[in-house]
Amino acid sequence: MSNAAAPLQIAESEIKAQPFVSANTHPFETNDPRIKRVHEKVMAGERLSTEDGLALYGSHDILAVGWLANHVRERLNGNLCYFNVNRHINPTNVCVAACRLCAFGRKKDQLGAYTMALEEAWQTAASGYSEAVTEFHIVGGLHPDLTLEYYEDLVRGLKQRFPQVHLKAFTMVEWSFLAKRSKLSTKETIKRLKDAGVDSCPGGGAEIFSDRVRHIICDHKIDGGEWLEIAREVHEAGMRSNATMLYGHVENDEDRVDHMMKLRALQDETGGFQTFIPLAFHPDNTPLQHLPKTTGLLDIKQVAVGRLMLDNFQHIKAYWQMLTPKIAQIALRFGADDLDGTVIEEKIYHDAGATTPQGMARRELERLIREAGREPVERDTLYRPVSRGEATLAINV
Ligand code: SF4
Repeated sequence: MSNAAAPLQIAESEIKAQPFVSANTHPFETNDPRIKRVHEKVMAGERLSTEDGLALYGSHDILAVGWLANHVRERLNGNLCYFNVNRHINPTNVCVAACRLCAFGRKKDQLGAYTMALEEAWQTAASGYSEAVTEFHIVGGLHPDLTLEYYEDLVRGLKQRFPQVHLKAFTMVEWSFLAKRSKLSTKETIKRLKDAGVDSCPGGGAEIFSDRVRHIICDHKIDGGEWLEIAREVHEAGMRSNATMLYGHVENDEDRVDHMMKLRALQDETGGFQTFIPLAFHPDNTPLQHLPKTTGLLDIKQVAVGRLMLDNFQHIKAYWQMLTPKIAQIALRFGADDLDGTVIEEKIYHDAGATTPQGMARRELERLIREAGREPVERDTLYRPVSRGEATLAINV
């Protein structure tokens, strides 16, 4: 890895997209009467209903659905496409939950189980680190023995060693587990780790909120209501989070629309979500490996429907690690305005058979974005522009 990096400057406020002439130069067209109705609402700036969401999923007119999503995407974010330079740290894969959707978690004595000592976690953060990195993304298994103090020390140690790096840490599921293990409320747990240095939350573990689906794919996890409640507490504690949705397993269109409607309702109350991240299910090496993988069409449609239903989310991410860089690039014209980041050493989806590289060079990300006709903007975790002057920046993974 090359570590050359120009001095980092992060602006005070979020990036504002400039007025932009839409790339939708062709008029909207469809023979699907349900999508015509959605078109009228989108053009009038009206909120879409459950019925509209089902109509979007049910339509085969992917170009019409994409036209609408692209329209909203450009209305909200112009021609900009965001990415960041980040590193993933997964302190342990030991997990008590045994979710069927998961290829990452291991029992304590299982082959391949690991838990990083604090020094090891800090060294992992340091390996391949350069001034270019603006974010550590920290999530892991629900370890039966790791204490809240371990996580406080982990976070504090990272902040001491890398004071300028934003710490985006812990899913709502991890907050809940740590709170129960420590016999504290989730509010107190959030406060303790925020005081130690956590800056925001990644928003994972949401899966699909439907009880029926959760019972099949992750029945030891907190339920959807708890996930939303902890997200509310995170936002009330003054931290932003993202929100994910895992699709392409045993859920149906109703479950997906219900999931997004619940996120939208909470966002109306807190405004704390930054980005919606649809995650394509990877069945390999999971107990659900008999299920087929998602198709390109479903991946693209999910991005587009997410953009259209979540009118109060500023950003929709096409997470290239799960979608593949090729699909993620196309998604930039179907509603997505963010490609995630350089990542560096992604483990969770690679255990589940993702065949994408474990990280991507910044130049390659920029090439994908430019080729899609978008303007790449490096952001920090809070969507503030990162500027590095004229010097060459290289994160070659
Ligand atoms: S998905 Fe998360 S909580 Fe479930 S088994 Fe895997 S690591 Fe554990």
